[in-house]
Amino acid sequence: MYKLTYKQYFDALKEGKLLGLKCNDCGSYTAPPKLCCDKCGSTSTEVVSLSGKGVIKTFTVIRVSPEGYEAPYIVAMAELEEGPWLMGNLINVDPDKAKMDNIIGKKVTVSAKILPKMNYTPDEGVTPAFVIAE
Ligand SMILES: [Zn+2]
Repeated sequence: MYKLTYKQYFDALKEGKLLGLKCNDCGSYTAPPKLCCDKCGSTSTEVVSLSGKGVIKTFTVIRVSPEGYEAPYIVAMAELEEGPWLMGNLINVDPDKAKMDNIIGKKVTVSAKILPKMNYTPDEGVTPAFVIAE
């Protein structure tokens, strides 16, 4: 059984809340939601709110976009304060000015980017979005 379904996770994200799982066995955090703890595989987890704060570890500029996205845009991986790495769109940096030294290591807060309804999705989508805090 999923303690935290993708639907719950994305519904919360739309409201600006980042949810994750906290492991009752090893204490580590998992996000986005999985069936079990990312670190030790335990299924004894509970749903928690995460701080939504992290640091950018890596990124890539997407120049050819899938349907629903407008290229160019930046996809980044951020290490959250609680530990897990989360993928999302970096939204307040110009993709044409994105350089290693002005993005890597920057503090970000997680918000949500709403994606328009697409042919193959029942309603609008949402993806984590990062905003550089400085
Ligand atoms: Zn664990």
